[in-house]
Amino acid sequence: MADQPLRSVDDLIKAELIGENERAELSALEKRYAIALTPSVARLIDRDDPDDPIAAQYLPRVDELKEHPDERADPIGDQPHSPVEGIVHRYPDRVLLKLVHVCPVYCRFCFRREMVGPQGDGNLTKQQLATAIDYIASQQRVWEVILTGGDPLILSPRRLQDVAERLSKIEHVKILRIHTRVPAVDPARISDELIEALIQSEKLVYLALHANHPRELTSEVRAACTRLKNAGVVLISQSVLLKGVNDDADTLAELMRAFVETGINPYYLHHPDMAPGTSHFRLTIAEGQALMRQLRARVSGLCIPQYILDLPGGHGKVALGENAWKEVAPERYSILDRHGMEHLYP
Ligand code: SF4
Repeated sequence: MADQPLRSVDDLIKAELIGENERAELSALEKRYAIALTPSVARLIDRDDPDDPIAAQYLPRVDELKEHPDERADPIGDQPHSPVEGIVHRYPDRVLLKLVHVCPVYCRFCFRREMVGPQGDGNLTKQQLATAIDYIASQQRVWEVILTGGDPLILSPRRLQDVAERLSKIEHVKILRIHTRVPAVDPARISDELIEALIQSEKLVYLALHANHPRELTSEVRAACTRLKNAGVVLISQSVLLKGVNDDADTLAELMRAFVETGINPYYLHHPDMAPGTSHFRLTIAEGQALMRQLRARVSGLCIPQYILDLPGGHGKVALGENAWKEVAPERYSILDRHGMEHLYP
């Protein structure tokens, strides 16, 4: 069993997670999209189940070579809202600060799959980071800074502490939010040193844990979350609704209950984005809405996340409540954005 990260088709074949017969097609795929699994994730995969929901999230498959005409390289429109390198400023009161473009795992449905990975945009240089922090300091309305990427918790505690301290000095920033998969895919990385680095900031620190299946909330993962919570970090969840992973109400109920039992408040359930080569993961909005109705019928209100669509083109997030959308043709929807403007989706 692997005790090192698996980072290539060759590694996956040696670990017997994919067959030698898949080498040729997947080698073409790995030139475009990065591959990585941590040892913890590799151990979670059920090799006897061809439809294993953990494998589906991380093991590359040839379906990724099929692109749908509605898919786009920048599905949620980060680029038009990027005033300086590393910043996305889409909403008046918050910015994304993208420090790194690498992750400990590469999710096969990732909405930033064209930007993350060793072949991606690279990390922010010292100068770019300084410019990004200056930009945040110059924007008085920015109340919250969201560290994302890539996965910011792949950085060393020293670098994280440096960023937290610099943001701490900006009076109008009150909240630091970190979007990460690390506590779920590499719980040992949540060391005392890393937690100390995060709480150096005088701001309230939120951590949005990305996990999509209840089996990802192992005892080690729950213990890592408890360490963060005990240090004063507020935990919220983010998941993606994915065909073949969590597209049934029982799995979603179990996932949301596992979050709540771990002290993580269910926050977002994302409708999958239009990232290239991900159509095999996508449900329709009507199917997602039906699942949300079934979820509401079976769990406590504590376990209900917001079902969210990020509108393509940078028009922002929309909560997919019953009145926010209507089907105008088979699998075509009219959706109102937060300003009341109508968009056709996809
Ligand atoms: S960890 Fe996040 S940014 Fe990295 S590949 Fe997965 S979804 Fe994408």
